[in-house]
Amino acid sequence: MLNNVVYRYCPVCGQEYEAGQIQNFTHQCSHCGFNLYENANTTASGVIISDNQLLLIKRAHNPKIDCWDFPGGFVEPKEHPERAVVREIKEELSVDSEVERLFGVYGPTEYLYQNKLRYNCDLYYLIKLKNTQLSPGDDAKAFRWFNKSELEELDKIAFESQVPLVKDICQQLLV
Ligand SMILES: [Zn+2]
Repeated sequence: MLNNVVYRYCPVCGQEYEAGQIQNFTHQCSHCGFNLYENANTTASGVIISDNQLLLIKRAHNPKIDCWDFPGGFVEPKEHPERAVVREIKEELSVDSEVERLFGVYGPTEYLYQNKLRYNCDLYYLIKLKNTQLSPGDDAKAFRWFNKSELEELDKIAFESQVPLVKDICQQLLV
């Protein structure tokens, strides 16, 4: 059983939360009245298809180090998800790209980071690469192209919520 980190103190006034307040996704400070909401974090990732194969990256960091994942990452505050996915692909694969369209929204994804269980809402975009010279970096230690039968056998996908995503890609985008 994981030892999930919880927020113990109000970030505004520093008062310690009382029992019962710290287990919820809303932390209501009884001292100053400030409400801390733990909402889902938005991620934006790329569905990249070429020659009837899907591109995945191997994760370089925890959570889920060494598992296969889609290139992408967290959307920054004030950043449009379409810009975020292009930025993340540049960081992880050193290649420029552009968004074709939204493929789908998946989740919630359980994301355990620094012993804090968080939840993500994941946007997946169909992406067109501007060239085929790829070089893994940042959060990606490697990349690989997978055909449909390899994806159907894939057992090291990073997140449970990506199982239906991969299934949809196999059904809709690959032959
Ligand atoms: Zn407070």
